[in-house]
Amino acid sequence: MRTLVTGGAGFLGSHLCDRLIKDGHDVICMDNYFTGRKRNVLHLIGNPNFELVRHDVTEPFMFEVDQIFNLACPASPPHYQHNPIKTTKTSVLGAMHCLGLAKRIGARVFQASTSEVYGDPEIHPQTESYKGSVNPIGIRACYDEGKRVAETLFFDYHRQHGVEIRVARIFNTYGPRMLPDDGRVVSNFVVQALRGEDLTIYGDGLQTRSFCYADDLIEGFIRLMNHDQLTGPVNLGNPGEFTMLELAEQILKKVGGKSKLTFHPLPGDDPKQRCPDITLASEQLSWKPKLSLDEGLDPTIEYFRKLLSE
Ligand code: NAD
Ligand code: UDP
Repeated sequence: MRTLVTGGAGFLGSHLCDRLIKDGHDVICMDNYFTGRKRNVLHLIGNPNFELVRHDVTEPFMFEVDQIFNLACPASPPHYQHNPIKTTKTSVLGAMHCLGLAKRIGARVFQASTSEVYGDPEIHPQTESYKGSVNPIGIRACYDEGKRVAETLFFDYHRQHGVEIRVARIFNTYGPRMLPDDGRVVSNFVVQALRGEDLTIYGDGLQTRSFCYADDLIEGFIRLMNHDQLTGPVNLGNPGEFTMLELAEQILKKVGGKSKLTFHPLPGDDPKQRCPDITLASEQLSWKPKLSLDEGLDPTIEYFRKLLSE
């Protein structure tokens, strides 16, 4: 199986490349290194089944492959808000280029969509049938609406051209290889705690998120991609739900030290609660996450401890 992974040098992309290589695929990893790093896939360079290509998904590309995983897009709010117009282009043009290629060569194509398509949700937990509550002109819209248009393109290519699509709606996922300055909450809190700095709680810290460990998520990707008919969208995430205060306390308990909590303004349109209903993934893919937040934090903290000591 020849497989293209866009955004393959990023946090999730690099774990996906590892898994595909382990499963015997020939992998082409494509990235523009905006938030990805060569060091994430350094251990794969030299492997005859692995190829690294610097390319931006907003420009067309052509590879002869059997499968395409489209992960290219910055995922952390500070990174995707850095150049919001580029973020929308990355989602929309990236999806079009992957789908155009898939149509031309008859490849199956996977989209890394997001729980952000639900916006600030009015139903809880979120099921795939919920249509979402997204502010189309807010500071998160470049990401949320970009991903929503990408889903639209995926389903229209499927209906209009018969392209085989797989769409996963990913909920907050964490683990080794996140950037220390990524800006997302788990990496921020862990890095702050390890440096003995105060933890930055945005708002009152009572907003909730559900955190999935990277390896669990990648297993879900593979099961969805290999399913013979399920297009999705399928929620993939860990239904364990925590407030940001609970997350901070859990990390401080594990890391120790003298860090305190400091409170900062809540960014615009920050969703108040988020938790996946994973009934569909559990019934159709026999998938559910194995690691609790408590278990997944240990290897994550160890990764950052080593990284910060280098
Ligand atoms: P990440 O920022 O580590 O990875 C994104 C990768 O895409 C990086 O390697 C980056 O350099 C690359 N990229 C960005 N713009 C590009 C462009 N124009 N051309 C080529 N490459 C480009 O983030 P991640 O957490 O690994 O997320 C991977 C995918 O999963 C993203 O599409 C993201 O939206 C989605 N997702 C992630 C989460 C999560 O919690 N980690 C949740 C929902 C959705
Ligand atoms: N958050 C926080 N402190 C930080 C970073 C984030 O309190 O240093 C909050 C943020 O406001 C949000 C939650 O943590 O409510 C998750 O943020 P993240 O950026 O990880 O992901 P997203 O908001 O996209 O789910």
